[in-house]
Amino acid sequence: MSLTASGEGDHGVDATRPRVGVLALQGDVREHERVLAQLGADVVRVRRAEELASVEGLVIPGGESSVIDKLSRSFGLQAPIRAAIASGLPVYGTCAGLIMLADRIVDGIEGQESFGGLDIAVQRNAFGGQIESFETELDVPALGSAPVPATFIRAPVVREAGAGVEVLARLSDGRIVAVRQGGLLGTSFHPEVAGETRFHALFLDAVRQRVGAAAA
Ligand code: GLN
Repeated sequence: MSLTASGEGDHGVDATRPRVGVLALQGDVREHERVLAQLGADVVRVRRAEELASVEGLVIPGGESSVIDKLSRSFGLQAPIRAAIASGLPVYGTCAGLIMLADRIVDGIEGQESFGGLDIAVQRNAFGGQIESFETELDVPALGSAPVPATFIRAPVVREAGAGVEVLARLSDGRIVAVRQGGLLGTSFHPEVAGETRFHALFLDAVRQRVGAAAA
């Protein structure tokens, strides 16, 4: 469904400056836009199916997953986003965005749905009321040896990950907080609030790879 599938589109294909969307229904949209622009992406806000159709990758921000779910349905975006994920669109979800990418949600509200795509079970608000938010540094071998600063805000954790899911980071107690499966990337935490750019760079690598493959 992406214009890049044919290697043609009215915005042209420039693998060095990919056009990426930030789902802008609710949540910390601006922080993602800032990091993506800093990394050289052409960033657009996605609120309508036509905007989704114009992008080569999508970021789903943190916020409140039950609200993003409801709004995505009322904006007619749920089905197009599911179709885009099925067709291989690279997507990066942080926090609520990770929940939206999970095939299974633990402790969702009544009737809560996700887009799915990642073969994981994610537990919402996994740190309970005692520790609502915290910052830590994570070891993420896929991003090099320098620790990754990570801000957790009413964060989820990955409770189960299928065989096809690559675990990118765990807390010191072993709980999974970053995963990748094909072009889908998800983190329980917000790298963007600490100015950390490496997860977004990893996402943009997947976008550039796909754009390059389509153009070849
Ligand atoms: N607790 C939120 C949810 O369930 C996620 C919080 C966040 O995105 N920072 O969607």
